[in-house]
Amino acid sequence: MELVSTAAPLDLLERHFGYKAFRPLQQDVIEHVLAGRDAVVLMPTGGGKSLCYQIPALALDGLTVVVSPLIALMKDQVQALQGNGIAAAYLNSALTFEEEQAIAGQLHAGALKLLYVSPEKLFSANFLEWLAGLGVRLFAVDEAHCISSWGHHFRPEYKLLGTLKGRFPQVPVIALTATADRAVRSDIAHDLGLRDARFFVSSFDRPNLSLAVLPGQDRLSAILRIVARHTGACGIIYCNSKAGTEKLAAKLQQNGVRADFYHAGRSAEERGSVQDAFIQGKIHVICATIAFGMGIDKGDVRFVVHYNLPGTLEGYYQEIGRAGRDGAPAETILFYSYADVQGQMYHIEKVDDPRYRGILIAKLDRMKEYAEAQVCRRSILLSYFSESPGEPCGNCDVCKDPPKYFDGTRVAQKALSAVVRCREQLGLSVLIDVLKGTHSPEVQEKGWDQVRTFGAGGDTSAFAWMLFLQQLVQHGLLEIDYREHNHLKITERGKAVVRGERTVQLVTPETVKERQERSRKVKAAPVDLRPVSADLLGRLKELRRTIAAEIGKPAFVVFSDASLTDMAQRAPVTLHEFRLVNGVGDHKARLYADRFLAVVRAFQAEQERA
Ligand code: ADP
Ligand code: ZN
Repeated sequence: MELVSTAAPLDLLERHFGYKAFRPLQQDVIEHVLAGRDAVVLMPTGGGKSLCYQIPALALDGLTVVVSPLIALMKDQVQALQGNGIAAAYLNSALTFEEEQAIAGQLHAGALKLLYVSPEKLFSANFLEWLAGLGVRLFAVDEAHCISSWGHHFRPEYKLLGTLKGRFPQVPVIALTATADRAVRSDIAHDLGLRDARFFVSSFDRPNLSLAVLPGQDRLSAILRIVARHTGACGIIYCNSKAGTEKLAAKLQQNGVRADFYHAGRSAEERGSVQDAFIQGKIHVICATIAFGMGIDKGDVRFVVHYNLPGTLEGYYQEIGRAGRDGAPAETILFYSYADVQGQMYHIEKVDDPRYRGILIAKLDRMKEYAEAQVCRRSILLSYFSESPGEPCGNCDVCKDPPKYFDGTRVAQKALSAVVRCREQLGLSVLIDVLKGTHSPEVQEKGWDQVRTFGAGGDTSAFAWMLFLQQLVQHGLLEIDYREHNHLKITERGKAVVRGERTVQLVTPETVKERQERSRKVKAAPVDLRPVSADLLGRLKELRRTIAAEIGKPAFVVFSDASLTDMAQRAPVTLHEFRLVNGVGDHKARLYADRFLAVVRAFQAEQERA
């Protein structure tokens, strides 16, 4: 049986999607899947995962079933496909019986290339038997990290996906995710029962995102400064509670910012309208819980702020990844406070399963390390996602304000020998008491005011000690034992420092203060658009709005921001030139060429007259 249509993937890409080239890895994945083999694809948000199964779906003779956990996401994807003239539909609990029947009819007639389903739907009564009769050629599992109980988005119904391979042994499975550490990654392949799956890991580097961490004090004024330097542009502020999003949105509104809030507690209708208003740029700042953002195709988000510390680097990276998807410079800021760490710990302590709890703690620890880092933050992120970091990035706060070091060997020796003398039975803050010679209740109770190092660091401030101790942990001289009351343990390396066999370079506390100071003053990088095309872009967006209203679909179904930006820069006046615009395939050229070309021509005529 001939499974593959004769069209090459690149032709399909150009014809259906109007894109001129594959992004890194896309073609490799597509060829692998078309050869009938299983794949696990890791790409950052916005990396272009969808095409990795959509192109095979078009090439294969039969149906591709896409499992997707979020109803909003499915709908967007299907609308975008239909906007390119591709036969796609979705089935989930939000449909009426009649709608479902209509789609079933299309499926029986073999009229659909792609079917999106929720896992609940997939495993509802008789659904799989029914699918088996339809000639499924490929399964795609989107947001595949949801299958891992150790991931931060575990969905119990995803576990059932492990049975698919048994039911459909001949059908290849492609699993896709933006958020996977090594443990989650091997869970995906294992839990889905994939056979000899190949892993495709694309670069997670997003050099256009600047990275910065600010102390958690006075967040509102810091945010107002960020908003002010991005006038008219859109941004997302992630908060860790529903109430937090509401309060912050209200405060921003009082300060004249067009802000709104988004969380799972609002009605579906409200969430839909907030999201639409944000996508259309009517709302500038959205204060949201992590419920917001999955699958939202908005390229021109210029800043993402974390009001609170996220629990994992995966979550953090996925959220900042929503900034600057158009490739233009965008700013990300994380506020860091110990109160947030405690808040996260409070929730983690309530987790029953000790193994899961341990993993959450380890992940939070990595998040903290990132926030406290004195080395290039991008290097930390990249090595977390198993990429070897290159040179310091030059676009994070640490690179911009590099730390000043001093020989901290003696300082380290004081702290490390205090840990040894107190038999590794104390945590950070009590250790600071011991070093500073503070007679706190715990110090007295344990008799630590008797040890030789008591008060040995009295001339150093508690702020500085905290900073030094964090660095000793980061250098691997001390370890925090989370299973044992967060007590500090000295490592082999640490012992070598005590014996005088190793020296330690530490960052001065002034470095940290200077960095805070500078972050108050940074200017937004100018968006790289010539003024003329910015004017034209406005007109093109207007036409897009008009068309979207006519067809009753969201604007991105007509063209993405990236396409319109490319169009504004190319200013096409012939059909041939129009076809060169990124995102203009056969279908959209047929539907829209005349109207968009008319706008460009009118604009140019005006320019000539002026
Ligand atoms: P992900 O699912 O990885 O977050 P998407 O598949 O939604 O990312 O792709 C992000 C954006 O990039 C979409 O607007 C998509 O159309 C666009 N895109 C993907 N691949 C290409 C390509 N080869 N050329 C141009 N644009 C692309
Ligand atoms: Zn850097």
